[in-house]
Amino acid sequence: MTTFRWGAPADAVTLPSTVRDLLTSALGVTGPRPAAEPELTPPAPLPAFPGLDTSTDARLRHAGGMSTEDLLTGRSGAVPDAPDGVARPTTHDEVVEVLRIAGEHRIAVVPHGGRTSVVGGLRAVREGYAGVLALDLSGLDRLVRLDKTSRTATFEAGVAAPKAEEMLNAEGFTLGHFPQSFEFATIGGFAATRSSGQASAGFGRFDQMVVGLRAATGAGSLDLGKAPQSAAGPDLRQLLLGSEGAFGVVTEVTVRIRPLRELTYTGWAFPSFEAGMQAVRALAQDGPLPAVLRLSDEAETMINAATGASDANGGCLAIVGWFDGAADPSARLTELGAEPLGEAPGKAWEAGRFRAPYLRDALLDAGALAETLETATFWDRLPETYSSVRDALVNTLGDAGTPPIVMCHISHVYETGASLYYTVVAAQAEDPIAQWRSAKTAAGDAISASGATITHHHGVGRDHKAWYATEIGPVGVAMLHAVKQATDPHNVLNPGILLP
Ligand SMILES: Cc1cc2nc3c(=O)[nH]c(=O)nc-3n(C[C@H](O)[C@H](O)[C@H](O)COP(=O)(O)OP(=O)(O)OC[C@H]3O[C@@H](n4cnc5c(N)ncnc54)[C@H](O)[C@@H]3O)c2cc1C
Repeated sequence: MTTFRWGAPADAVTLPSTVRDLLTSALGVTGPRPAAEPELTPPAPLPAFPGLDTSTDARLRHAGGMSTEDLLTGRSGAVPDAPDGVARPTTHDEVVEVLRIAGEHRIAVVPHGGRTSVVGGLRAVREGYAGVLALDLSGLDRLVRLDKTSRTATFEAGVAAPKAEEMLNAEGFTLGHFPQSFEFATIGGFAATRSSGQASAGFGRFDQMVVGLRAATGAGSLDLGKAPQSAAGPDLRQLLLGSEGAFGVVTEVTVRIRPLRELTYTGWAFPSFEAGMQAVRALAQDGPLPAVLRLSDEAETMINAATGASDANGGCLAIVGWFDGAADPSARLTELGAEPLGEAPGKAWEAGRFRAPYLRDALLDAGALAETLETATFWDRLPETYSSVRDALVNTLGDAGTPPIVMCHISHVYETGASLYYTVVAAQAEDPIAQWRSAKTAAGDAISASGATITHHHGVGRDHKAWYATEIGPVGVAMLHAVKQATDPHNVLNPGILLP
């Protein structure tokens, strides 16, 4: 990935004229903001970590993640979160050694997978530390074991998702984990953030795929997952899953895999988001549950049509994908009031599903503010959460005069509830970072007030800590600190992340 952008420069997108016109006429976007060359402060001296690189290029590439705030900060020239150096170990034992040296010298260690965090998960606290080290896991990139009988695969943590799929596909298997960050995110990053892919209804969330883990902690190594299921006490794998590098560095992950199967995607129109919501709930609860089930609200459906991403004409567009040979949900969808739109919208979604991050770069370059956030709640609260978060975003971002575009879709469904994924596009204010922070705070408060979770799949990082504390309460926070004390006695593992 390039610095402060998604993907290689050759893959950058140019905004279609329809989108440029919409930005000016509907949002009042006035044009690009001046960009500045990023400037780094001189690095603090670091001890001899395995594979240490203190070059400006390496430090810049490991400065922050991929939230809009990270991107805007980097492009403005300010790089407050660059590490002093980057260590690139190639084995579990070298990771253990990195943690030993870091503990001895009080160096903060930030594990880096694909660097696609959107919650400030790679922005470590510097105060109180002799330096900050980025621990780049890309050197741990092997398929350790493929067990076709048990249908499991053990990957080293730094294996990028496309490479994992490629290696499994060659043997007739798939992991089936396709988040929008698929191109760059890693197996270790998925485990550390409890990621969720676009086909989660069919394959499950990443945490449901994990059967075993190996991790290096500040107190030694952990090897977890001796059997497919176990009643031997609490499941310690769950303490590592979602721990975002604060309790240990995941070095190996064993995942369940499935035989490779084709998926058929189709588009369906519902007269309203409410009608669509009831229908996707019926599918999630009573079946047949497709592997991919997404429902856009009216605003997202309209924007997709206006930008040529779909030709759904009014109402709300649902994308439904099911495995070849699995129960076809078409009859049930029709019964539930959906109008079939054929395979074209499904094919268009499949073709464009990893393009949004490139489009965000182009929007930011053009002077627009573009960002996403997500939550999840139970079905009975979903309509209220949907409206209150949308209203919070519209009201705060509309303060400047021109109303923003706020769109939403149901991205993942469960028997008991679903996740809501919002995308906003607005004209950038004078200080776009402060502008987004106030909108994000209003949205986070609305999520919390409606009883929903502050994150369904992006994780906690730095940005969600306050709401996370409210969500788990003081006993929950104390439990996290007790685990931290046990696994990170020198308090060097990703300080400032996750723990309120
Ligand atoms: C455009 C875009 C789309 C996205 N779409 C999705 C989506 O559809 N679904 C989804 O779930 N998420 C999505 N995300 C969020 C992000 O991609 C996920 O959180 C992903 O799991 C992060 O993986 P990574 O390898 O990039 O980890 P990183 O971003 O490098 O790290 C994430 C956090 O985990 C820690 N970490 C990383 N590797 C390890 C390790 N081996 N051991 C311990 N700690 C580690 C890091 O320190 C950091 O705190 C998206 C992000 C972007 C930018």
